Amino acid sequence: MRHIAVIGSGPAGYYTAEACQKQFGDEVRVDIIDRLPVPFGLIRTGVAPDHQSIKGVSRRYEATALTDNVRFVGNVTIGEQVTIPELLGLYDAVVLATGAPRDRPLEIPGADLPGVTGSAAFVGWYNGHPDYAELNPPLGGPGAVVIGNGNVALDVARILAKTQGEFAGSDIVGHALSALETSSISTITLLGRRGPHQINMTPKELGELGELERAAPVVDAADFPPEIDDAMLEPGHRKSITHLRNFAAAHVEKPVHIIFDFFAMPVAIEGDGKVERVIVERTVLDSRGAAVGTGETYAVPASLVVSCIGYRTPPIEGVPYDDRAGRFANDEGRVLPGLYAVGWARRGPTGTIGTNRPDGFAIVEKIAADTQPNSGKQGRPALDALLAARGAEVVTFRDWQKIEAAEIAAARDGAPREKFTSIEAMLGARGT
Ligand code: NAP
Repeated sequence: MRHIAVIGSGPAGYYTAEACQKQFGDEVRVDIIDRLPVPFGLIRTGVAPDHQSIKGVSRRYEATALTDNVRFVGNVTIGEQVTIPELLGLYDAVVLATGAPRDRPLEIPGADLPGVTGSAAFVGWYNGHPDYAELNPPLGGPGAVVIGNGNVALDVARILAKTQGEFAGSDIVGHALSALETSSISTITLLGRRGPHQINMTPKELGELGELERAAPVVDAADFPPEIDDAMLEPGHRKSITHLRNFAAAHVEKPVHIIFDFFAMPVAIEGDGKVERVIVERTVLDSRGAAVGTGETYAVPASLVVSCIGYRTPPIEGVPYDDRAGRFANDEGRVLPGLYAVGWARRGPTGTIGTNRPDGFAIVEKIAADTQPNSGKQGRPALDALLAARGAEVVTFRDWQKIEAAEIAAARDGAPREKFTSIEAMLGARGT
């Protein structure tokens, strides 16, 4: 028998648990610890609410969760109810699958003005993350600026642009749906510090912008390199660029504009007590493809700025940390003896949800090589005793199923669920 603790119940955590089952069969016990009373991390609070098919992967994690040798230990915070050194004393391996839930800071003057928010907070707000339920972003318009040219920037722009009808079938939380209903935002400017070929947007997600009810993408054909250069791109990326070229050619007129402003680097945010404009510097690409400012600046009016420039893993005291990369310092997942990192906590915030599956399997191979069965570590019973002694209110997977049933029962017509947005409400729903 091996005892393994996984910290974090998102994709990386559940794929690691699944890999443990495949590797060790019945000779393993896996405890998945999460600070929230609800599982699935990024699937629940990161993936866009109008992308339900992507969220469907949680059914696979549920199958793993419902086996006897995997447990969900929710509502337990590392550093509060239990520490990493304590877990290392109880388990043969401890795997950090904590993701990258903090925003990379936007380090320009004015970034702390009210009305400027990071994507972790903004996405968390419309997805019902308890940390961000009170964000109340200013949607008075008419301008919003979204910084970054990745898929998160696309998600944010699309959510800001959709009509109420277009949220049918989504699980966007009620507070965000109501706020967006009265939004006056009519111009959403996506700032990309480099050019069309340097976007990090996938074709399916980019294509959706061309099919919105009241919003149309606006792209300047002059920003593109010669079309022949597209042939050198990897096929998926080429498809994305083709979408952009089609947007540039289409000239569709709709009331809401999603403007792709390329070669546009935000250098300051200004306003009297709140954001009013973003100062942008025109860029060119240098020989290595990096953005270099030209000195030419202009202002983009905005009452809301959402910075979608990537994420960081929060450090944990005593765990080696790579501050430059914003993740745990590790050698292919090995952090310290007995301590491992997987997923975004290991490699940074890149790749798709599926990328975490091979990651989970690779880390379990290392655990198999580094550990012996029946080491004498006590695992579950010892953790339970420790948490009980500290008065922790542990949420089990069965409890989560009751919370989920209550969320499903509270759903708007046609919606899959209405999420609880506070920890108290989640805990309260266990009794329903
Ligand atoms: P990302 O793909 O790394 O994009 C970050 C963007 O921010 C890049 O365009 C980057 O530009 C820009 N940026 C970084 N620092 C900046 C600065 N100081 N000023 C201006 N711009 C700056 O990150 P993401 O959008 O957060 O996505 C994270 C991961 O999740 C990605 O792998 C993404 O594909 C995935 N994701 C997938 C989906 C989906 O499949 N539906 C949805 C959401 C997220 P440079 O390129 O110039 O650095």
